[in-house]
Amino acid sequence: KEKMITGITPSGEMTLGNYLGAIKRCVEFQDEYDLYVFIANLHAITIPQNKEILRKNTKEIAALYFACGLDPQKSTVFLQSDVLEHAQLGWILNTQSSIGELSRMTQFKDKSQKTKAKTKDYIPAGLFTYPTLMAADILMYDAKYVPVGIDQKQHVELTRDIAIRVNNKYSEVFKIPEPLISENKIKIMDLQDPSKKMSKSSTNPKAIIYMLDPPKVIAAKIKAAITDSENLIKYDPKHKPGVSNLMMIYAILKNITIKQAEKHWTGKNYKDLKDDVTEVLIQTLEPIQTRYQQLYNSKDVEQWLEQAATKARLEAHKKLNKVQNALGLNYNR
Ligand code: ATP
Ligand code: MG
Repeated sequence: KEKMITGITPSGEMTLGNYLGAIKRCVEFQDEYDLYVFIANLHAITIPQNKEILRKNTKEIAALYFACGLDPQKSTVFLQSDVLEHAQLGWILNTQSSIGELSRMTQFKDKSQKTKAKTKDYIPAGLFTYPTLMAADILMYDAKYVPVGIDQKQHVELTRDIAIRVNNKYSEVFKIPEPLISENKIKIMDLQDPSKKMSKSSTNPKAIIYMLDPPKVIAAKIKAAITDSENLIKYDPKHKPGVSNLMMIYAILKNITIKQAEKHWTGKNYKDLKDDVTEVLIQTLEPIQTRYQQLYNSKDVEQWLEQAATKARLEAHKKLNKVQNALGLNYNR
């Protein structure tokens, strides 16, 4: 089986965007691939975090992962900080990448603006080197595929560049990964400002469907979602971003194409659209939430994470050794 790796930062509560863009696909992939999934808490602290909230988000995301259907027997689901090698390899890759290429990352440009506004005074250096740590996460396990939302594609491409560079300069230590973007390029948009993506670190909770939102809250948020004044249900992300976003959510959850969804709503109005989206959302999220409640208060999650970390550590240790050898970091080899 080919290896596949993906991560999520515990920088907030898990959103519908995370689920549709990443987690749902992982669950579908776990039979076909050797799947590694990590909770990127080292990445989370690239923007200021409150420690209690970080811990809560980490626990929540772990339990939610399993509640969404990741199977600890099939997949390796672990906490990034449990495998110390990630930070070590990240450091090495910092020395193999340039300020120029890191400056071109759009996530850095976006997040540094926001972070500056939030903290008033500084942008953490870790936000700048976020992509090299991400490269370490990926290259550590010889992953062939990296399923990510379109927003992370640039980072995977940088990872490829760095890997090729190191392989050429020293020796073939890294497997070259490929980003795996879903066919319909899933990017769920903010419900209040559909020109930007739905993000768990966003500050407007009304604009986001959280995986743990109760049915009533979901209904209210969808009802208040921005559409337009045309009252015409048509998929046109450029001119009708709000309506198109709702249509996309529905189509993915129903496992139908946008064309089929469009047909379903011929002659209907925005109220029908919103009612349908609300219904399918509640149908999907309720069973996940029930399973989540069972898991959150059990010891299972902690045990599964520890088992997976033990397995990951063995592999990471080998890879780091290989890289250190290649660069001459071991004294006597
Ligand atoms: P943050 O605001 O902290 O960056 P995020 O919501 O962007 O949070 P990440 O942890 O950065 O979430 O990403 C986890 C996974 O979810 C990635 O694979 C990313 O591509 C995917 N993802 C994030 N937001 C969306 C979205 N709106 N639509 C589709 N996929 C998304
Ligand atoms: Mg993100």
